Amino acid sequence: MTEIRTIGILGGGQLGRMLSVAASRLGLRCHIYEPGAAPAGDVAWRVTTALYEDEAALRAFAESVDVITYEFENVPTSALDLLESLRAIRPNRRALAVSQDRLTEKTFLNEIGLATAPFADVPDKAALPAAIDAIGRPSILKTRRMGYDGKGQVRIEDGPADWTGAPSVLEGFVNFSAEISVIIARGADGQVAAFDPGLNVHEGGILRTTTVPCGLPGKLTTDAVLIAARIANALDYVGVLGVELFVTPDGLIVNEIAPRVHNSGHWTQAGCVVDQFEQHIRAVAGLPLGDGKRHADVVMENLIGDDMARVPQLLTSHAVQLHLYGKGDARPGRKMGHVNRIVG
Ligand code: AMP
Repeated sequence: MTEIRTIGILGGGQLGRMLSVAASRLGLRCHIYEPGAAPAGDVAWRVTTALYEDEAALRAFAESVDVITYEFENVPTSALDLLESLRAIRPNRRALAVSQDRLTEKTFLNEIGLATAPFADVPDKAALPAAIDAIGRPSILKTRRMGYDGKGQVRIEDGPADWTGAPSVLEGFVNFSAEISVIIARGADGQVAAFDPGLNVHEGGILRTTTVPCGLPGKLTTDAVLIAARIANALDYVGVLGVELFVTPDGLIVNEIAPRVHNSGHWTQAGCVVDQFEQHIRAVAGLPLGDGKRHADVVMENLIGDDMARVPQLLTSHAVQLHLYGKGDARPGRKMGHVNRIVG
């Protein structure tokens, strides 16, 4: 591989923004491709504002970069096919395919020996009654594609079941005691560096806080890291991978994987010398991974919608690292920034 100077990033949200900042610290530059508004554009070398169907724009973007990565996994297949014919995409297409589709994802996880919630394929509304018979109630119906932050999900309780409107999977309800996640980096040479697992608290389907250390016994945190490493190896993964897990009395169950830097890894900005964004850039650029060892206890809290009113107070708080994404409109449910609070 030739030396990498310019990284193309598909998606221009806050993850792309923080990746661009990390790249710039390593003397690299980023070109953002984003059809809509791009908070990443403020800090990147270049921005292309074009649809994923715009072949000429995709081609020009690819030709201006040395390697392509993404901060958003729902990039259309046709765009990826064209881009991949011109430049390497890291993480690879298999990682994307697996994480874009909940049915493919769960099947893959079971195939490599990892536990998931019991699930059934529900291709259409007519298939729902048989799936409910097989999985039971309560359960959760989730669209196979394009779901995030709890969107595209329907809880199935005792009453009649709503339909999501798109091909779905029905998942058995997991009685978990906690939700944790592991953020792991894997280099092109197979070197792996995992961050400490974090404890995640969601509100209304959206991540509210991540706390490290997660307070779980050492055996469970080791299991969590081993699960993440198994997934990364099985996918021949290059980059940072987020793995969300449920803690149950029977051990850990994988909820979902994200083939990118992850909201529950933002704490690493204050807790580690090399954070998840820099690890991802290092991996994608073919550089050695850095030291991801945790040197502080951190609580990361997302600033969502009206939370922005707290910014003046946060600016004068002790041991608080504030990250704002430069988004204009603080709509309810919109992630506007986050804070990393050092707690020990
Ligand atoms: P997801 O979009 O799949 O990450 O789901 C969003 C949130 O819904 C998760 O973080 C859990 O809190 C909850 N959830 C998802 N799947 C299940 C399940 N099978 N059983 C219980 N809770 C779930």
